[in-house]
Amino acid sequence: MSAVAAADMSASPIAAVDPTGPSVPAKDRPPGVIQRVAGPVVAATGLDGVRMYEVVRVGPASLIGEVIRLEGDRAVIQAYEDTSGLTVGDPVARTGAPLQVELGPGLLGSIFDGIQRPLHELARAGPQAGGATGSAFIGRGVSAQALHRDRTWPFEPRVRIGDRVAPGVELGTVRETGALVHRVLVPQGVEGIVGNIEPGSFGVEDPVAFVDGRPVTMLRRWPVREPRPFAERLDPDAPMITGQRVIDTVLPVARGGVAVIPGGFGTGKTVLEQSLARWADADVIVFVGCGERGNELADVLEEFPSLTDPRTGAPLLDRTILIANTSNMPVAAREASIYTGITIAEYYRDQGYDVAMLADSTSRWGEALREVSARLGEMPGEEGYPAYLPARLAEFYERSGTVRCLGDPERTGSVTVIGAISPPGADFSEPVTQHSLRIAGTLWELDTDLARRRHFPSISWTRSSTAYDLSAWFQREVSPNWEADRRWMLALLQQEEELLAIVQLLGAEALAPAERAVLATGRWLRQDFLQQSAFDPVDAFCPPTRQHEMLATIRHAHGALAAAVAAGADVDELAALPCLVEIGHMRSWPHQEVGARAVALRSRIDEEVSGHAA
Ligand code: ADP
Ligand code: MG
Repeated sequence: MSAVAAADMSASPIAAVDPTGPSVPAKDRPPGVIQRVAGPVVAATGLDGVRMYEVVRVGPASLIGEVIRLEGDRAVIQAYEDTSGLTVGDPVARTGAPLQVELGPGLLGSIFDGIQRPLHELARAGPQAGGATGSAFIGRGVSAQALHRDRTWPFEPRVRIGDRVAPGVELGTVRETGALVHRVLVPQGVEGIVGNIEPGSFGVEDPVAFVDGRPVTMLRRWPVREPRPFAERLDPDAPMITGQRVIDTVLPVARGGVAVIPGGFGTGKTVLEQSLARWADADVIVFVGCGERGNELADVLEEFPSLTDPRTGAPLLDRTILIANTSNMPVAAREASIYTGITIAEYYRDQGYDVAMLADSTSRWGEALREVSARLGEMPGEEGYPAYLPARLAEFYERSGTVRCLGDPERTGSVTVIGAISPPGADFSEPVTQHSLRIAGTLWELDTDLARRRHFPSISWTRSSTAYDLSAWFQREVSPNWEADRRWMLALLQQEEELLAIVQLLGAEALAPAERAVLATGRWLRQDFLQQSAFDPVDAFCPPTRQHEMLATIRHAHGALAAAVAAGADVDELAALPCLVEIGHMRSWPHQEVGARAVALRSRIDEEVSGHAA
C-alpha cells in the first residue's frame, strides 16, 4: 500500500487512518451507540470527532452508512443498506474516511452497486460471501474491493528516472481492454523527481514508480462528493454523435454538455438511454441504473455482455461500466450511485477520454433525497423535496464538461451527462424536471402522444430544444448543406402542422395541391427520417453522413414533387411512384451502399417524377 497521504491515495473507507486524529485510528476508537432508527436513517451518539460525510459501520452486521448531519454529540447517518433488525444500543464504528471510490485499471467491464461493490463477484462468491448465488444482490455489511487485487497489468512507463513530475502527469500506460489504453497519472498531492520506474507486470497495489522516494501504485481513491480537478474548462464545440437522427440532426448534444430526457411511463426513456449506451460516440460509457425496476436493469445486465461495438468489433462491455441500483435496493444508495458514476466518469476524462454518463433516472435520485430528508424531519420545500434539491442537481450536472486535463502530455477530456427524468403522471411542472431543465443545454422531451402512435424515439421536435450551436462542426465534418437542409426540414414540419390543423377543421379538400405536396413530404420526414427503430439491426445506428443523405434525398424529392404538382400532376399518383415509395426503404439500405444509392435515387426521382408530370 502506498504511503502517500493524499486524498487520491488515502486508505479505504473500510480500513482507514483518521486524517484528523493524532494517534488512535478512528476505527480503533470505542464505538458509538445507536439512539434511534427510522428507515434508512440512524442516529448515534458517542462518535467523538466524527465528521460530515464520514463513512461509519453500523450495528453488529457493520452496515455501511454515511454521516449526513451533526447535532452536538449526535450524528445522523444514512445507511446504504437495509436497516431492519438494528436496535437502540447497537454499536457504530467510525472509519475516518469519506465515501470513496476505487479508481484504476479493471473498472471497465465491471458491474457495481451504488457504493461500488462489484455485483458479479459477490453473486459468484455465493451466500457465504454475502451474495445470493445467481442474483444481483449483496448481503448486508459486505465489503468488497471494486478492483481486482489478483490481476496484473503490463505497465509501460512514459517518464524516465530523473524526470520531474506533478499531479496529472502520465507516468505510463496499461492496456485495460481491447478498446482502451489506461493512462496511469501522478495522483493529487504527489510531486517531485522520479526515482525509479520500469516496465513490468503489476497489480493495482504494487508500486509502479517512486516519486521523491514515495511509492506510487495504480490504485487511486477519491471522495465521491468532490469533483476531480482539471486545468481549464473549455467551451463545448463538437457534438457527441449518437446515431439517432432526431438527436444529431435536430437536437444535438455537445460533447461535455448535459441533455435531459423527461418522459412519462412507457415513452421510451430506457430504450433511448440504452441506445445511447450502445451507439454514442464516446470512449467510455458509465451507465447508472438508478432506482428503476429491477427487471429492466436485469435485461441490460444480461444483454450487454453479448453486444459488440459496430465500429471496432470489440465487446461493448470493454468500454462500459454499469452501476445498478434498482428500486428494491436501499434508497440512500441511489444517491450514492449518481456520485459513484460521475466520479468514475471524471477519472477517465482526466486521462483524456470522452466519457458519457447515462443516468436512468434522476427522478429516483430526487425521490431518495426527499425520503431521507423527510426522515430527518427537515422542513419540506416544493412537493416535499428538500430545499437543497436544486443545489444538488446543479452540483451534479456541473461535473459535466470538456476540460484541458492536468499534467502532460497535453490532452482534453469530456464528460457528457444524459439524464432521464420520470416525473409522476408525466407532469413536467414538478421540481426535479423544472430544476433539471434550467441546467441542461439540451432537452429531449418525450411526447406521450407520439409514443402512443408508436412514433419512436418519441422526442417532440417542437417542445424540445438545444442551446448548443454545433452547426459549424456539422457543416465542416458532414456537409456544407447540413444547416440549410436542417432548417428546411424544421420549416416544412411547422408548415405541415399548420396544414394538418386546417385538415382537422375543414377536411383535406380544403387544401391546394401544393399544400398536399407539403403533407406528403411531412409524412416522409416524420415516418422515414425522425422515426428510428432501436431494434432494427441497420436502422438502430445512423451515422451523420447517412442522416444527411437521407434528409437531402427527401428534400430533393419534395422539390421534384412540388414542381410536378405545380405543372398539374396529382400528388397521390406521384407519391405512389416506385422511386418515391423507395424513400420509405432508405432506412434499411446497407451502410456502405448509402452514398451511391442516394445519388441514384435522386436522379431516378428527377426522371420519373418530372417524366410523369409531362
Ligand atoms: P420508459 O423507460 O420511458 O418507461 P421504455 O424505454 O421502457 O419506456 O419504452 C417502452 C416501450 O416503447 C419499449 O418497450 C418499446 O416497445 C418502445 N420503444 C421505445 N423506444 C423505441 C425505439 N426507439 N424503437 C422502437 N421501440 C421503442
Ligand atoms: Mg424506463
